[in-house]
Amino acid sequence: MFTALDGRTVIVTGGSKGIGKGIARVFVRAGANLLVAARDEGTLQTAAEDLSKESGGGRVETVVADVSKVADCRLIADTAVERFGGIDVLCANAGIFPEKLLTEMTEADVDEVFACNLKGTMFSVQACLPALEASGHGRVILTSSITGPITGFPGWSHYGASKAAQLGFLRTAAVELAPKRVTVNAVMPGNVMTEGMVAMGEEYIREAEAIIPQHRLGSVEDIGYAALFFATDEAAYITGQTIVVDGGQVLPESPAALAGI
Ligand code: NAP
Repeated sequence: MFTALDGRTVIVTGGSKGIGKGIARVFVRAGANLLVAARDEGTLQTAAEDLSKESGGGRVETVVADVSKVADCRLIADTAVERFGGIDVLCANAGIFPEKLLTEMTEADVDEVFACNLKGTMFSVQACLPALEASGHGRVILTSSITGPITGFPGWSHYGASKAAQLGFLRTAAVELAPKRVTVNAVMPGNVMTEGMVAMGEEYIREAEAIIPQHRLGSVEDIGYAALFFATDEAAYITGQTIVVDGGQVLPESPAALAGI
């Protein structure tokens, strides 16, 4: 059995929908207090109402913030400390993935993706650091991806680069923060059934499922459970590590490996 997370304070950036909302749901069911951060206030409020209904004892609060702005990263950390008295876990999950082929890509396209996915990760960690250290068991859990660190997909060269860059950040941050008893780890999702994936249509989803050995997309909670593990007291000695959560998607050597299964 893992030690309960009752009363711990967890921040989930980008927790108003998709994978972040799944991560938030898993933590709130586990009894944690939750601060959910995102840009759109309406979506945040709906998420807070949904998540509160599933609370295992903790409170759900929200903050409107854009992680691509350093001042907003500070606002997220300050809000958590003000409302809950500290921060135990930061799930740096907020991310964007606008599609653009390399031939069409502008400097602004690259800046936009890196500002949210990489700078947003780095400065949200920096902002939460004093409170994470003060907790005595701080946990940082990044949402990276298989796209970039392991795989590629046309239209996402800037996105893939940002997701791989998160892991470069993770390894040095893990070393720097180890003496402060703050661990830094990452979840690397494959294709996950989010609102965005549903919008891609049934055919796209069927094609995606066909190349996954488990023949299903991940649920947002599948990612949340991996994040929850990194947050436990029992994972205190694990830092600078990644876990792929993809139903085996990256494993087949060729399409032949999936023939007949
Ligand atoms: P999503 O459904 O589009 O949700 C993204 C969340 O991030 C929303 O809450 C969004 O709210 C928030 N967000 C976006 N930009 C933000 C910013 N600048 N500041 C604060 N919040 C921001 O995306 P998702 O598919 O769940 O992806 C979440 C994470 O998982 C990303 O890091 C992504 O790279 C990663 N991932 C996703 C998949 C997948 O299959 N979906 C696979 C691998 C990795 P607002 O728009 O209101 O700000």
